Amino acid sequence: MIRTTIAGSLPKPTWLAQPNVLYAPWRLEGPQLAEGQDDAVGLWIAEQERAGLDILTDGEQRRRHYIWGFLQGLEGIDTDTLAMKASRGQRYAKETPVARIVGEVAWRGPVLVEALRYMKARTRRPVKVTLPGPMTSADSLLDVHRKRSDADVAMTIAAVLNREALALQEAGADVIQLDEPCFNIYLDEVAEWGIAAVERAFAGIRVKRALHVCYGYGIDIVKAWKASNREWTHYFTTLPLIAGSCVDQVSIETAASGVDVSCIAPMRGKEVMLGVVSVSTEEVETPEQVAARLRAALAHSHHDHLIACTDCGMVPLSRRAAAGKLRALAAGAAIVNRELGLA
Ligand code: ZN
Repeated sequence: MIRTTIAGSLPKPTWLAQPNVLYAPWRLEGPQLAEGQDDAVGLWIAEQERAGLDILTDGEQRRRHYIWGFLQGLEGIDTDTLAMKASRGQRYAKETPVARIVGEVAWRGPVLVEALRYMKARTRRPVKVTLPGPMTSADSLLDVHRKRSDADVAMTIAAVLNREALALQEAGADVIQLDEPCFNIYLDEVAEWGIAAVERAFAGIRVKRALHVCYGYGIDIVKAWKASNREWTHYFTTLPLIAGSCVDQVSIETAASGVDVSCIAPMRGKEVMLGVVSVSTEEVETPEQVAARLRAALAHSHHDHLIACTDCGMVPLSRRAAAGKLRALAAGAAIVNRELGLA
């Protein structure tokens, strides 16, 4: 049957961080912050279970940012003093703030394993852990230490991600996901070294290997780009490449963009997390809207390989909207499963 999950992040409660802001500072500190993060994870696990989702995340409640939240746990990276770089192919701005490589990058021990253990102790459902992909990480870093190319930095990050992924697998992660929004930007580089870096990061991983490829968060700068963009064919280049890789599941965005869902056809035999819930609007989809988006995909994918998902992370949304979208997601998938005689 069609299963359900989310791309990864969920909004922080207002008592933990300012809502509707990316990279918002914490409102608590020390032991209170740790306790607040635990409580935020607990309430989102409960919310996902109540909605009826099949594969859960911790909503990335312990991370201020989906990339730097992992990178700051590594040796050799400064996520406090940022630099400016022409990143994301200058799609949204000439330059954006990036973290700096200031020494030899090294994995000094698990960054997200304790968070995984906390989550697994609180739900019996399968759990997913998300990590920033090597290409997107390299694009979000400036190597002031050795001034290496993004391709070289990506391979270094991939080796580090592999250490983390192996530790997460050992600790019981059911799905390990790499977030690669840059796969929709640097199409030539995806073929040249992006896929190789993802495969390096997943070496020895036997649990589900997932890749999230999107058109970005529902923040103003991205929404403005989406409103003016007329070219939505990137997946027709990237998905055949991903289909030929070790990746088991790919997460793509269809709800808030002009993507033609037939792009998923090359993924036949693998799993597609289909973005059927927009993260660009506070407006909550109806279950029927979600169901219609899923039905459109059934011509190109088997229902057992289809996972209803959000387009991207919901961290910039309100808690109310995100909770409503979780319920719409599950209810929409249930409609289609009933039609297929599967529920
Ligand atoms: Zn995304």
